[in-house]
Amino acid sequence: MKTLKIAIQKSGRLNEKSVELLKNCGLSFENYKSSLISPVSNFPLEILFLRDDDIPEYVQDGIADLGIVGENVIRETEVEVSYLQRLGFGKCSLKIAVPNNNSIQHLDQLNGKAIATTYPVILGKFLKEKNIQADIRTISGSVEISPGLGLSDAICDLVSTGGTLKSNGLVPFADVMSSEAVLIGRKGSEDEELVKELIQRIQSVLRAKETKYVVLNVHSDNLSAIISLLPGVKSPSVVPLAEENWVAVHTVIPERDFWNKISQLKQAGAQGIVVMPIEKIIL
Ligand code: ATP
Ligand code: MG
Repeated sequence: MKTLKIAIQKSGRLNEKSVELLKNCGLSFENYKSSLISPVSNFPLEILFLRDDDIPEYVQDGIADLGIVGENVIRETEVEVSYLQRLGFGKCSLKIAVPNNNSIQHLDQLNGKAIATTYPVILGKFLKEKNIQADIRTISGSVEISPGLGLSDAICDLVSTGGTLKSNGLVPFADVMSSEAVLIGRKGSEDEELVKELIQRIQSVLRAKETKYVVLNVHSDNLSAIISLLPGVKSPSVVPLAEENWVAVHTVIPERDFWNKISQLKQAGAQGIVVMPIEKIIL
């Protein structure tokens, strides 16, 4: 049987979450720091640990069948790969930032200015779209210090909390793209059975992460009010309790409107609400 290869970041911001996701999919492997390749003992898969910049090309060229990498890296390397699944971690934005004592307030004012970045391809396309002629200075790291050193007027870099910008006296000025980690595959890989199975496992883990399992007790007089607040589709389960006229309601609630729903449920008479994490949801 064919063995798939999936490339993930060897070390850095995406390594831990990528390993965690694959382990939550039930894959058993050693997260060797010293080795570049690790076999999975219970699925025909090998994990390749690489620099993130190399992952898109390895996948495009078929050296790896799949990869987990930030969208920003894919866009910058301009590869032909299939986007298989957004993964919900590694969220950040590529932003243009300027020194906080700067008078630049409109994109037009970037005309004729120097912008330092490690993302010249993405920035070049963005400026072209906006019809701005600026001088893109490509550097390989520590972009934030370049205005202070007089090397540029602005920077274009990845931001998540904005703390690094702030501590370097910079303020974000324009959004170029937002990014998160994605699962990519060699073109055509999405039709392969093993790839489909792996995607299904990943989706079942992601779905579970977005949802909580909730059990609550309610007097039967209030049951219909409670049910009207909950998502439909064969849910919830209603189980009689030892105390007469009381039932336990079991249901799942999406994480995004969790607190809002809980307060509505309480108002409608729910008591003893217990919330549990879900490991997997298989449709
Ligand atoms: P490598 O050694 O593999 O080349 P790197 O130093 O280029 O790693 P990291 O800093 O580990 O990259 O970031 C990996 C990815 O994490 C980025 O490409 C981006 O998609 C995502 N990311 C999330 N938040 C941030 C952030 N605040 N700054 C930089 N990257 C971020
Ligand atoms: Mg890198």
